[in-house]
Amino acid sequence: MHGPFVFSTVCVDQVVPLHRPGAYGLSRTSAEEVEVVDFSASSLREELRFHAEEARYFWFEVALTAHEAYRLACDFYHSPSPKKASGAVHPAAPPGPGWTCPVCHSHAEQLVPA
Ligand SMILES: [Zn+2]
Repeated sequence: MHGPFVFSTVCVDQVVPLHRPGAYGLSRTSAEEVEVVDFSASSLREELRFHAEEARYFWFEVALTAHEAYRLACDFYHSPSPKKASGAVHPAAPPGPGWTCPVCHSHAEQLVPA
């Protein structure tokens, strides 16, 4: 995962390629602690730009497929560094087979809040 970068749409456009899936982390407060971990199945740059109002720092990694993007997000969520905020939630996968977290083996259905 690349980062942290200081969030700006200019920076996002400079470092994140167009129309590629990928995983990302966001923080509103600290470059040391990730508050949101998620992925985009189609366009990481567009998804990051969507968070322009709230994010101050971001991390990202580009993937070849939506599934790879999900796995990268899971790996990032479970990795000890950088630290994850206590409120950070596991990346949510779309329903369906093949979306099992490679680290904790949870499925999308188990991660949806009741
Ligand atoms: Zn997991």
